[in-house]
Amino acid sequence: MSSATGTRGKAFVISAPSGTGKTTVCHKLLASDPRLRFSVSHTTRPPRPGESNGIDYYFVDEAEFQRLIEEGEFLEHAQYTGNLYGTSYAAVETSLEEGIDVLLEIEVQGAKLVRDARFDAVFIFLLPPSLEELDVRLRGRGTDAENVIEKRLAEARSELEMADVFDYAIVNDDLEKAVAEVREVIEAERTGDSLRVRARLGRKRVMEVWRKAAEKP
Ligand code: ADP
Ligand code: 5GP
Repeated sequence: MSSATGTRGKAFVISAPSGTGKTTVCHKLLASDPRLRFSVSHTTRPPRPGESNGIDYYFVDEAEFQRLIEEGEFLEHAQYTGNLYGTSYAAVETSLEEGIDVLLEIEVQGAKLVRDARFDAVFIFLLPPSLEELDVRLRGRGTDAENVIEKRLAEARSELEMADVFDYAIVNDDLEKAVAEVREVIEAERTGDSLRVRARLGRKRVMEVWRKAAEKP
């Protein structure tokens, strides 16, 4: 629905341990859903090859990031493996006021901050099939140095402990299936008819199954 009807857009927060595939999933969602817009975050991390300023992130230095914090520009911000990341109010509010839904792809501490701020959003957690597969994906991506990969894997364990922040959990084993499930959640939340989807993809149920299958010692 558009702002012409006065309807505010919906915010969807997607988080996952790094390497799970959330960027891949989000690109597919955004490419196929014109009612969904990406919330462009700020970061102090240097751009990776192929990333563009203002599209993937706003790449800023620490001084600029601190200035934005002091001026109260961020809905949430967090430090993650040595760099700062933050969602500005502008990144989400402009779209929501236009009646367009917004996708926030952020790490788990940030999702918790958004939840704690009682910001109205639907929280979706993506899970790797297992921690071993997460290791394979981080290495396979080929974008991070060994010490960064180690930090991200260590972070993943504590992130998985914070799963109760989320409404839904979806395992990214088969990519197309995971994308279809996130789409189902988005559609159900848009129409307000989410009971059946929650029964299948609700966080509590999925996490119980995942822990049994993926975290056996
Ligand atoms: P994140 O944004 O969560 O850090 P990426 O989207 O960068 O993760 O994905 C990490 C790596 O895993 C990439 O090389 C990507 O192509 C790969 N990948 C993503 N989803 C799947 C999947 N379902 N099966 C196998 N590999 C995947
Ligand atoms: P990357 O360096 O791989 O692009 O991102 C590292 C982590 O930071 C990912 O989990 C990504 O989702 C998260 N991230 C990206 N933007 C934000 C943001 O605005 N806030 C928070 N808290 N995390 C973010």
